[in-house]
Amino acid sequence: MTAALAVTGLSAGYGSAPVIRGISFEVLPGEIVALLGRNGAGKTTTLLTISGLVRARAGEVSVGGKAVAAHHPRAVTRAGVGHVPEERALFANLSVRDNLAVAGARRARDLRRVLELFPELERLLDRRSGLLSGGEQQMLALARAVHQRPKVLLVDEMSLGLAPKICQRLVDILRRLATEQGLAVVLVEQHLFLALEAADRAYVLHRGEITLSGTRAELAERRAELEAAYLGSV
Ligand code: ATP
Repeated sequence: MTAALAVTGLSAGYGSAPVIRGISFEVLPGEIVALLGRNGAGKTTTLLTISGLVRARAGEVSVGGKAVAAHHPRAVTRAGVGHVPEERALFANLSVRDNLAVAGARRARDLRRVLELFPELERLLDRRSGLLSGGEQQMLALARAVHQRPKVLLVDEMSLGLAPKICQRLVDILRRLATEQGLAVVLVEQHLFLALEAADRAYVLHRGEITLSGTRAELAERRAELEAAYLGSV
């Protein structure tokens, strides 16, 4: 099967220091893959580089088997890559309805499709997004990204500051999209246990390099090693 997303030898950084070095991984259609690692390991930088928002110094990104032009965020979006950044990038002064409209969900039919997946947003449609709870904001951020019908969705620190129940609900939505629509998901997570439950496979980043990878079952068996790698002691 052709990978929905293939990253080969990706290197990037800010200023002169490299932050990620020779990162390679792939995600198949319908798969949820977690990128794990401690603070500063380079997870966010990896996502930003895939999206073309940070300049790649080396390496390639392919979507559905086709190389996408480096440094062109719009080309990456057009190729089918959605990105939910850590800060969620909502318009705080706009209502939920208008935030969805800005993302292209203007017609009643579009809105119905969004609300079918995210029914919790219905009673919040006229509320300013800045007044939503963290979980509701994250749901709106996901809804906006999903509305664009990406083939690949990059989700950064979805669980940050959210209650476990809400995280589980968001993971369930991603799983449904993966199963029903073949969406490929890259989940950047600091929360090791949530990620291991949510993902089919995971890669561990340590100081900008992938040091460990495996399926959920393989990683569950190598729990001690995983925790050591995660804590940065190997
Ligand atoms: P976190 O969970 O804290 O976001 P992370 O694994 O996502 O961690 P990155 O945010 O990719 O890590 O950061 C990797 C390294 O790059 C860190 O040392 C960080 O200080 C540095 N860094 C991140 N953004 C910038 C920037 N805009 N300018 C300079 N250095 C940066």
